[in-house]
Amino acid sequence: MSYQLPKLPYEQNALEPYITGNLMSFHYGKHHKAYVDKYNELTAGTKRADQPLETVIKETFGNLDEKTLFNNAAQIYNHTFFWHSMKPKGGGEPHAKVKSAIQHTWGDVAKFKTEFTDKAAKLFGSGWVWLVKEGDKLAILQTKDAETPITGNTQKPLLTLDVWEHAYYLDYQNKRPDFIKAYLEHLVNWDFAESNLK
Ligand code: MN
Repeated sequence: MSYQLPKLPYEQNALEPYITGNLMSFHYGKHHKAYVDKYNELTAGTKRADQPLETVIKETFGNLDEKTLFNNAAQIYNHTFFWHSMKPKGGGEPHAKVKSAIQHTWGDVAKFKTEFTDKAAKLFGSGWVWLVKEGDKLAILQTKDAETPITGNTQKPLLTLDVWEHAYYLDYQNKRPDFIKAYLEHLVNWDFAESNLK
């Protein structure tokens, strides 16, 4: 059976005015869908067709012969994780265990936000910025292109932000810092981070 494009956890225009329904119709409806279509095309009739997505990502990572499959598989995973990393009326302050873990790693939430903003702004070209759990601490990670923390087995992702140009250009043009600010102040889903920390 072919892989199905996962449903968005909210309506396409639910993140307005910070991400418009128009941008989402391209980012989810065209980009995310294209990764799923390509994945199905590449796996059809192969052993990969019956494997879970995460297995395909882990097994194809670093394998030059399966680089295109890795890219499409990882982009499916990353985008699904990204949609859940946001919610309508998100943002604000982390709570409970995530807040303690952030304080344990950075001292306070403001320092975490500064480092996250800096790493998201400075990632050159296309990629992703992640809040991950690593050992008993948290870390902010940059990954290039389709790369994802789940290939390493030592980092558990809690949140991600897509900083590919297609993630913001229609709404923010070249102003990636404004998009990062909107994500942290109005969109980030701390409940999702909390559920991933457990
Ligand atoms: Mn994207």
